[in-house]
Amino acid sequence: MVVLVGNVAASGSYVKSKAAAAGRVGIDAEVVHVPESASTAELVALVSAIGRDERGPADGILVQLPLPAHVDAVAVLDAVPPDQDVDGFHPENAGLLSQGRPRFIPCTAAGVQRMLVDAGIETRGRHAVIVGRSDIVGKPLALLLAGRGPGGDATVSLCHSRTADLAALTRQADILIAAVGSPRLITADMIKTGATVIDVGINRIEEEGRSRLVGDVDHDPVAAVAGALSPVPGGVGPLTVVMLLENTLRAARQRLGLAEA
Ligand code: NAD
Repeated sequence: MVVLVGNVAASGSYVKSKAAAAGRVGIDAEVVHVPESASTAELVALVSAIGRDERGPADGILVQLPLPAHVDAVAVLDAVPPDQDVDGFHPENAGLLSQGRPRFIPCTAAGVQRMLVDAGIETRGRHAVIVGRSDIVGKPLALLLAGRGPGGDATVSLCHSRTADLAALTRQADILIAAVGSPRLITADMIKTGATVIDVGINRIEEEGRSRLVGDVDHDPVAAVAGALSPVPGGVGPLTVVMLLENTLRAARQRLGLAEA
C-alpha cells in the first residue's frame, strides 16, 4: 500500500513505476492519494489505520517522500508498523540494520550493494567513499558496506556537505558512491583511475532547451577514467524498485510465518 501525498510530478512517476513493477510480479499495489493539505495528524491516523488492516490487508506500507513542508515526516514514517515497513525507514529497522541483523534494508542502499555483488566488484578490504549522509541512502549504505560478508567488509568514508576537501577523499576511493542530489558534482579529476563509480543521484535539469535527467556524476568524462560507472537514468533507480519488491515479499512471508526465501 503506497501513500502518495500531493501532486509532486516526480513522486507520482516513481509511484507509478513501483506499482507497475509490483503488478508484473503478481503483487497487488494500491495507491492511496491524499491531498497536499493533509495534516501530520491526518497522515499519522491514515498510516496507522492501514497498519491495522482497516483498509484491507497490506503486507507492506510505504509513504512516498518527500512529504509537503508543513508535515512532520518523521512522525508519519514512525507510524508505519515496523513489520510492514518495506522502505526500512522505521527506527526499529534502522536499529536492526546498525546491529548487523537487518529486517528491511532501505531499498536504494540495498540496490547499490546488490549491484556491486552481482557485478562481481570486490568490496572486502577496499576503500568505499560515499558522498551524502542521508538516512535513506548514505547512512544505511555505509552500514552495509562496512558490515560483514559479501558486499561488505569495506573501509568506509562517509562524506557530506561539511567535508573538507571532498576531492582528496574521492580520489582515494576504490568504490565511489554519489548520493547527493547535485547535478554532475563528481568530475573526472575526483576519480582514481579504474575506480568503480555508482551514481545514485537523479536530477532534472534544463539543458539546450530541453528537460533531462542527469546523475551526480559528470558521466562521459568520468566514464573515461573509471573502471565501471552506473548510468542515470537506469542503474540504481530500477534496482531500488526491485529491492522494494523483495522487501515486500519478505514482509508477506514473515506475516504468513514462512521461512526466508
Ligand atoms: P538528501 O538531500 O537527503 O541528502 C543529500 C546529502 O548530500 C546530504 O547528506 C548532504 O550533506 C550531502 N551534500 C550536499 N551537498 C554536498 C556537497 N557539495 N558535497 C558533499 N556532500 C553534499 O538526498 P537523498 O535523499 O539521499 O538523495 C540524494 C540523491 O539521490 C538525489 O538526487 C535523489 O534524487 C537520489 N535518489 C535516488 C534514488 C534512486 O532510486 N536512484 C533513491 C533515493 C534518492
